[in-house]
Amino acid sequence: LEQSISTYLGASHVLAASNGTATLHLALVALGIGSGDEVIVPALSYIATANVVELVGATPIFVDVDPRTFNIDVSLIQAAVTPRTKAIIPVHEFGLPCDIAKICELAASLGLSIIEDAACALGGKDGEKYAGTFGHFGSFSLHPRKAITSGEGGLLVCADSALAGKISILRNHGVKMENGKITFQEAGFNYRLTEMQAALVHSQFQRMEYILTKKQELADIYHEEIKSPALLLPIVPEGKTHTWQTFHVLVDPSIDRDSLILKLRENGIGTNYGAQCMPDQAFYKRKYDLDSASLFPHAIVAYHHGLALPLYEKLSAAQVRHIATTINNLTSRP
Ligand SMILES: *Cc1c(COP(=O)(O)O)cnc(C)c1O
Repeated sequence: LEQSISTYLGASHVLAASNGTATLHLALVALGIGSGDEVIVPALSYIATANVVELVGATPIFVDVDPRTFNIDVSLIQAAVTPRTKAIIPVHEFGLPCDIAKICELAASLGLSIIEDAACALGGKDGEKYAGTFGHFGSFSLHPRKAITSGEGGLLVCADSALAGKISILRNHGVKMENGKITFQEAGFNYRLTEMQAALVHSQFQRMEYILTKKQELADIYHEEIKSPALLLPIVPEGKTHTWQTFHVLVDPSIDRDSLILKLRENGIGTNYGAQCMPDQAFYKRKYDLDSASLFPHAIVAYHHGLALPLYEKLSAAQVRHIATTINNLTSRP
């Protein structure tokens, strides 16, 4: 599995682990990031992106996202950097690669490490290069919600051989084989992926290009068929390849998004909000008490008005047209 993925991505080291949160955690531990350090994260993501920073005892510094791509707003990063900043975790939100080349350039000039949270972006590209292969680390999730899955699982791309060696020890109780003898070199974790999970996801990997192509076709149908002026459809900036992990639309504030979710459910269509404004979640609210509405306005808009539409390769074109028509009808004004 590790070899297949590293060949596919053109990455030097790929390490499998038990999930896509473990991979982010391993990267932070391997970099020695901990108490007193700060790590820059987008305000909008799945909560794991911020939780791993807390897990190592460091402080997540939230930065607002771009209102159209929902990815971290690169122009706001510099102002969030302090002498304590050690790393940036840019997220390829919903499977759309962020401006990762620019972020890497900025990080290099500031001496910061980059851990790409590419949980949703296996197969996504910025230019000719795969998401997850730009930074010092790139983390993928194999959770059932993602395009290919091992039940639970994760993959970590690592550019540096010494760090890759450290990760392989850390994920297995700190065990190192030396002269045929087991030694314990680190206070490591049990973050192993099992052989059975690896076999399962490896067979799905053989169909991944088919899955991504099918999802692109269905996303195109949504773009053609959703005509309601109350919905703002996702964009794909020039040069980026979206994986369509999530087809994320913004619902006009004149329509209550949560009631729309309920009405769609009554019509047999399952939808949900797309991603959390992380500083607004209970733990972060208690600990940092940040005023998200004024500090992260675009993340708050996406959290309150974003909607993830059904998109998986087994949906038919007719079903996607039916969903689009139902949404058009439910959101058009009388
Ligand atoms: C799914 C996801 C994760 C967590 O992955 P798990 O495998 O569930 O631990 C982390 N970050 C983002 C952006 C995700 O979408």
